[in-house]
Amino acid sequence: MSKTLIFGHKNPDTDSITSSLVMADLQTKLGHDVEAVRLGEFGKETQYILDHFQLEAPRLIENLDGVESVMLVDHNEFGQSADGIENVRILAVVDHHRMANFQTSEPLLYRAEPVGCTGTILYKLYRENNIEITPTIAGLMASAIVSDTLLFKSPTCTPQDEAAAKELAAIANLDLAVYGLEMLKAGTDLSDYSAEQLLSIDAKPFEMNGITMEIAQVNTASIPEMMERQAEIEAAMATIIADRNLDLFFLAITDIINSNSQVIALGTATGLVEKAYEVTLENNTVLLPGVVSRKKQIVPVLQNNA
Ligand code: MN
Ligand code: MN
Repeated sequence: MSKTLIFGHKNPDTDSITSSLVMADLQTKLGHDVEAVRLGEFGKETQYILDHFQLEAPRLIENLDGVESVMLVDHNEFGQSADGIENVRILAVVDHHRMANFQTSEPLLYRAEPVGCTGTILYKLYRENNIEITPTIAGLMASAIVSDTLLFKSPTCTPQDEAAAKELAAIANLDLAVYGLEMLKAGTDLSDYSAEQLLSIDAKPFEMNGITMEIAQVNTASIPEMMERQAEIEAAMATIIADRNLDLFFLAITDIINSNSQVIALGTATGLVEKAYEVTLENNTVLLPGVVSRKKQIVPVLQNNA
């Protein structure tokens, strides 16, 4: 039997990378032969965390050739997973997203909870299995919770996420108010990214009632600074729309300090955005006050109006 690979979604964010490493640690301690891998490049926030804990990134894989079994973390939708995912055995899923387009031919361990981060669920799995959590593994889970909840400010954050992060921070000896903000800020340094790179940092494809779309999100400490690049960003968006035959490209530029998102929307289905949020796009853009979560404040809002 070949090793079971563990990975998060394409365009991996911090939770996808750290949860792969953490799940691999947990499964190894439970006696399974596994390896954490990743499906793409990751951002500076994740790099900051790996550097802090002096860890190597999981190995990048291009495809699932020769792979027999996998475990998924931080996602379940096949469209966001590895190409060929329908041809391998999925042994386990640990996730905190909506379930969509997911089907297996054999039984599996499926653990989904409506919490703010996969890290929070993994923390529970350690406790339930009575497995000791090392400071490094605790630091990775705490970092993921800070990342996914924007330091507990996102509406996706639950009391369970905060409680888990506190306990994990104590084990890892981290001051989350300081470390967490440094970590989030590291991810907002996008000056050396091309517009194409910027659009792929955290982008996910969705299909809603026949409308195909890409919903991308970038974190920033200054919306005006990012909007200086609007023309360049729109050109890159238009190319992706043409290449992938999309009806809509939705980019949320999220101000992590003030908890707002400036949206740039392009495509033939931008009317969906205007209808869903009862706004008018001017020059392809609009500010959505208080919107920071794709999972809770973007995907369901668009879905309900598509
Ligand atoms: Mn994620
Ligand atoms: Mn997540």
